[in-house]
Amino acid sequence: MGDMSVGPCYYCGHIGPLNITYYNYPIVCNCCDGNHKIRIEHCNNCKTEQPIQTKIWISTEKLLDPVGENLFVKIS
Ligand SMILES: [Zn+2]
Ligand SMILES: [Zn+2]
Repeated sequence: MGDMSVGPCYYCGHIGPLNITYYNYPIVCNCCDGNHKIRIEHCNNCKTEQPIQTKIWISTEKLLDPVGENLFVKIS
């Protein structure tokens, strides 16, 4: 996605024009539209790295029956 924003870089804190990188995960959560994704805003100098953890909202009903509720989805 080619949108830009301005603010502090996620990695170095430098304030300026930022690139946006999304990391996608094959779980249909309640916090994102479709599969779970992490949005990282970063400057041109920083190499993006996948965050080591993420918070995710999932309904407990889905969690009790992940296969029947189609909790998992294929991402490209
Ligand atoms: Zn940076
Ligand atoms: Zn999510």
